Amino acid sequence: MNFDIVIIGGGIVGLTLANQILERDERLRIAIIDKEREIGLHTSGRNSGVLHAGIFYKPNSLKSKVCINGARRLKEWCKEEGLDLLNCGKIITPQKEHLDSQLEVLNEMGKQNGVSSEIINKQEFLKLIPYGRSASGRALFVPSTSVVKPIQILRRLEKRLREKNVQFFLGYHVSFNLKNQQILMLKNKFKKQIEDISLNYGYLFNSSGLHSDRVAKKFQIGKDLTILPFKGIYWGLSKSSPFNITTNLYPVPDMNMPFLGVHFTPTTDGKINIGPTAFPAFGRENYKNLDNLEPSLTINFLKHLTVQWIINKRGFRNYASGQALQGFKPLFLKAAQELIPSIKNEHLVISDKIGIRPQLYDIVKCQLVDDFRVEHSKNSTHVLNAISPAFTSSFALADLIINSTPSFI
Ligand SMILES: Cc1cc2nc3c(=O)[nH]c(=O)nc-3n(C[C@H](O)[C@H](O)[C@H](O)COP(=O)(O)OP(=O)(O)OC[C@H]3O[C@@H](n4cnc5c(N)ncnc54)[C@H](O)[C@@H]3O)c2cc1C
Repeated sequence: MNFDIVIIGGGIVGLTLANQILERDERLRIAIIDKEREIGLHTSGRNSGVLHAGIFYKPNSLKSKVCINGARRLKEWCKEEGLDLLNCGKIITPQKEHLDSQLEVLNEMGKQNGVSSEIINKQEFLKLIPYGRSASGRALFVPSTSVVKPIQILRRLEKRLREKNVQFFLGYHVSFNLKNQQILMLKNKFKKQIEDISLNYGYLFNSSGLHSDRVAKKFQIGKDLTILPFKGIYWGLSKSSPFNITTNLYPVPDMNMPFLGVHFTPTTDGKINIGPTAFPAFGRENYKNLDNLEPSLTINFLKHLTVQWIINKRGFRNYASGQALQGFKPLFLKAAQELIPSIKNEHLVISDKIGIRPQLYDIVKCQLVDDFRVEHSKNSTHVLNAISPAFTSSFALADLIINSTPSFI
C-alpha cells in the first residue's frame, strides 16, 4: 500500500495535521495509524476540554503563537459542525496575597499575545463567583475562554477525514524498516489472526503523544530528550453541593512550571470537574493503580526528580512537595478550598477522569521543556511535548508544523 503521508497517532495533533494537509492538497493519500482500536483513548480524550484564551504563555513562544488563533478556529469549527461549545470565560484568582501582583503580569502577557482580559475588583469578582475566594480581593477575568467536549471533536474529525478518503489503521503496532526508510510493518493485536501489512510512505509525521519520544528515537531524533508522564486526577463536584459554577475558576499558576494547578471547570453537559493534579505516573499509560507499570521509566523519572530536587531550579522543591500531597483527598480538598473555601469533603465525588501529560524533559539541560517542540529528520517530522494547550491550538499548531516541514508535496 502506498501513501503520500503516514501519520502515527490519531490524537488531536494527528487528526488536525491530516485535516490541514488536505486543505492544501486534497489529492494527497493519507493514512493514520493508531495502536488503539478506537481514537481518543489517550490524552486528547482525557483532558479538561478548556479552549485556553492564550494568557498563560510567554510572548513569542510557540504556544503563544498558536493558542489564540487555534482557539478561534476550533470554536468556529465547533459552531459549523454543531458541536457542544460553552462560552463561559475564565477567572484567575490569587490564592496568596503575594500572588496578587501576578495578575498584572498575566494581564500584560495576555495583552502582548493579543488576548482581551481585565482585572476585576472584589465586588465584581464576588458577583461572578459569590462563594469564591481571592486572597487580595482582586481577580483576572478572561471572557474568551470556552469549554468543549474533546471526544466529540475527535470523533467528528475522524468522520470528516474518512469522508475525504483518509485511511485509518486502528489497533496496529508499528515497526520501521529504516534501511529502505519507507516501509512500516503493522500487527493488529485486536484481531484473532495476526496480520502484517506493509505501507510505503513518502513522508511521515510522528504525533504519538506519550510515545512520541520513543518513535522519534527510531529516527535518531531527540536522544537527549525523554517523556516524563505526569498524571492528572480529577474529582467531580457533587450535584447536591450548593455551588452553581458557571465559569472556569483557576488559581494564579506558578509560571516556572508547565502545569496550571487545580481548577474548577464547568463541562458542556452540566457537570463540574475539579483538578487535575500533577503527579509522576509510573508508566506512560499508568491510568489506574498498577496498570501498565514501567519500572525502568519510573526509576529514570525518580532519578530526574532527585536531580531537580537537589538543584532546586525555579523553586522546584516547594512546588513538587505541594503537588505530591494533592494526591491525597484531604490535601486536594485544601487546594480546592483555596478557590472556594466552603467546599467540603462530601462535595467531592469520585471521577473516572484521569489524563497523563506527555511532558518532555531535557536530560542535558536538566529541565522540563516548556514549549512545544517540532523536530525533523529525512522524510519525517516529530511532534514532541504536545502538552497543554495543544488541544486548544490544534488547527493552528498543525499549520505551524506543516509550514516548518521541509516540502513533502
Ligand atoms: C489532565 C490533562 C488536562 C489537559 N487539559 C487541557 C485543556 O484543557 N486544554 C488544552 O488545550 N489542552 C489540555 N491538555 C493537553 C492536551 O490534551 C494535549 O496537549 C493533546 O491532547 C495532545 O494530543 P496528541 O494528539 O499529541 O496526543 P494523544 O491524544 O495522546 O494521541 C496520541 C495517539 O498516538 C497513539 N500512539 C502512541 N504510540 C503509538 C505507536 N507507537 N503507534 C501507533 N499509535 C501510537 C495513541 O494511541 C494516541 O491515540 C491536557 C492534558 C492533560 C493530560
